[in-house]
Parts: sequence; structure tokens; C-alpha cells
Amino acid sequence: MKRTFKASLKHLNSFAVEARAGQLLELETGQDLQIFSTGFRFDPTHDLILGSGSNILFAADVEGTVILNRIPGKRIITESGDGVLVEACGGENWHQLVLWSLEQGLSGIENLSLIPGLAGAAPMQNIGAYGVELADLLDSVQALDLEKGELHEFAHRDCEFAYRDSRFKSTDAGKYLITRIRLRLQREFKANLNYAGLAEELQVMGIDVPTAKQVSQAVIRIRQRKLPDPCVIGNAGSFFKNPVVSRTTADMLEKEFHGLPRYPLSENETKLSAAWLIEQCGWKGRSMGGAAVSDQHALVLVNQDNATGSEILALANAIGESVQDRFDIKLQPEPRIVRS
Ligand SMILES: Cc1cc2nc3c(=O)[nH]c(=O)nc-3n(C[C@H](O)[C@H](O)[C@H](O)COP(=O)(O)OP(=O)(O)OC[C@H]3O[C@@H](n4cnc5c(N)ncnc54)[C@H](O)[C@@H]3O)c2cc1C
Repeated sequence: MKRTFKASLKHLNSFAVEARAGQLLELETGQDLQIFSTGFRFDPTHDLILGSGSNILFAADVEGTVILNRIPGKRIITESGDGVLVEACGGENWHQLVLWSLEQGLSGIENLSLIPGLAGAAPMQNIGAYGVELADLLDSVQALDLEKGELHEFAHRDCEFAYRDSRFKSTDAGKYLITRIRLRLQREFKANLNYAGLAEELQVMGIDVPTAKQVSQAVIRIRQRKLPDPCVIGNAGSFFKNPVVSRTTADMLEKEFHGLPRYPLSENETKLSAAWLIEQCGWKGRSMGGAAVSDQHALVLVNQDNATGSEILALANAIGESVQDRFDIKLQPEPRIVRS
């Protein structure tokens, strides 16, 4: 187990903001995990589990220990009929897992190509993109109970998945370290092209009947065009969740604000576009201190000029107030925010 005292977290978060940890512990093997589970007392008020840092904003230092789960491993567990059960350890890179599954002739997660991060973080906010979310394919999650030091198995129904949410992010935040995930993938490919932009992209590529690999390539092309690359300019993808409101509220807003995009979720619930709301408030491309709203995508906050985490948070708060004042809607941040 690698241990570093007084470590900088600047290269461990995709916003690339400076923050420090009292100690950094890197778990690289199953043996490291065993030593950690028996010998370390995790305190969620001071300590933190970190994946690749692509969904976190450090607006303060971490006083205690930052634990990095870097344990690798992925394999096919069972195959029956068309269904294939695949297992990935928490330290596996998510996008590499997607590419590997495609190489194995498996499909199901191709729409989730190029999402940054590690497999262990994927269930946290039930990662999703282009009409698919992890919950659609997840079989189970294994996690270490940080208080008891015991491994626990969660079936899909126990994970309390919702839009960008799960029990690990909400009710049980700071209680578990996710050690591995199991996914149900397929041999027979059924394209999910419900997201209109994806079908259009495939048309531009001259593809009528796509393979899973071609869907993955189309997703990669769209993402590379639409989203600022964190290696070039620090960001954490979408900073706000798309708000979910009642149908009555959406109807009222639509009457007042012409062109309001709305996506029905159920008979009573409607999802709105946070990017549209932010753009209407005039924030796209604007900066505050070293932080800015991307001019490529209004939902993405960027570290434009050596921003501190607090500057990015101040910008997020200012945007939230604008949207609240104009539309009476409270935006919820998507990334975890570390505050003092
Ligand atoms: C350019 C860009 C595009 C993105 N696009 C999308 C997208 O399309 N869809 C989407 O859903 N997300 C997207 N994201 C957000 C992010 O990629 C995902 O949320 C990803 O799953 C975060 O993984 P990570 O390893 O970086 O987690 P981190 O940012 O390190 O951690 C996120 C949270 O998970 C916790 N955590 C991490 N690992 C574990 C573990 N093993 N056990 C317990 N808790 C853990 C952390 O404590 C923290 O609370 C994007 C981010 C960027 C920068």
C-alpha cells in the first residue's frame, strides 16, 4: 500500500484545483484492501474515498486521509444464452472497460463510452449518457462497509438507483468503499438510439445499421465535439443535474417561457434542461475570477485561469441564484463538493 503524507490533490481532480490531503493511501492489490479494512478507522467527516477525481470539487483541503482505490481486474464470470455477467474491480478505468467489453463481442455499455472515471465510482451517481444509465445494466455491487470493515453485496434493487443518484451518494454517503461491480451485458447487439443526436451522428458517419463499436465511436465523436477536454481545461462535466419538476410546474413555466425544453419522465414528472435555464440567465461563456461557464456547453464550469475551488463554487452559487430568481427552480450540483 502506497502512503504519502501532506499530498497535493491538484493532479487527482479534473478541475485541476489545488487542495491538500493530510495523507494519501493508495490501494493497489486485494491484500492492500484487506490490510486497510482491518487496520484503518475511516472517519467520513475527515477522510475521503477518491476515484479519478472527475466528479468532485475541492473547495477545501481534506484534513484526514484520501483513499485511492486502484485495484485492477476485469473478467467474464458466466454466460448463459445471450446474457453475459461481467465483473470489474473498482480501480478499473470505466472507458477502458467499455472498450474491453466491445473487444469481447459484448454490448450494453457502448452509449456510456468516454465517461471519465473509475468503475468503482460508476454506481455512485448511476452514470448515464445518450439514453442509457448504469442501472440499466448493473447486476450487483460489492462494497466495503467502512465502519465494520466487512464486505457487503448489494443486489441491483438494493442500490436505490435514481437519476444521477444511488444509496451510495445519498442515504449511505461516506459509508462504503465500492470494491467491484457486476454488469449484465449481451452477445446480441440491440442498438439504443433513443437519443436523437446519436442517430444523426451515425448518419453523418454514413452508417445505417450500426454495430456496437460504431455506436461507441459515434458517442466518442459527439462527446469530443461537445464537451471541453479536462486535459486541456479543468472541468467536471455537467456541474448541475437537470431539474425534475411536476408536470403542472412544467406547464406553468412553458406558458411563461417560450421554447422551454421538457422531457416527460412519467405521467407526473418532467425533466428540464439545466443548460437551457443557465443559458437563458446569460451565463454561457461568462467568467468570475478564474472560473468560467464553458462557451461550448452552459452546464460545464471550467477552471479557466488558475481558479481555486472556492472561486468555482462561488460561480456555481451565483448561477444557482440567477436560476432560482428567474425560474423559481433550485439547481442541484452533480459533483461532490468538499467544503471546509
Ligand atoms: C468531461 C467530463 C464528462 C463527464 N460526463 C459524464 C456523463 O456523461 N455522465 C455521467 O454520469 N457523469 C459524467 N461525468 C462525471 C464523472 O465522470 C462520473 O461521475 C464518474 O463516475 C466519476 O468517476 P471518478 O472515478 O472520477 O469519481 P470521483 O470524482 O473520484 O468521485 C466521485 C464520488 O464518488 C466517490 N467514490 C469514488 N470512487 C469510489 C469508490 N470506489 N467507492 C466509494 N465511493 C467512491 C467519491 O468519494 C466522490 O463522492 C463527466 C465528467 C467529466 C470531467
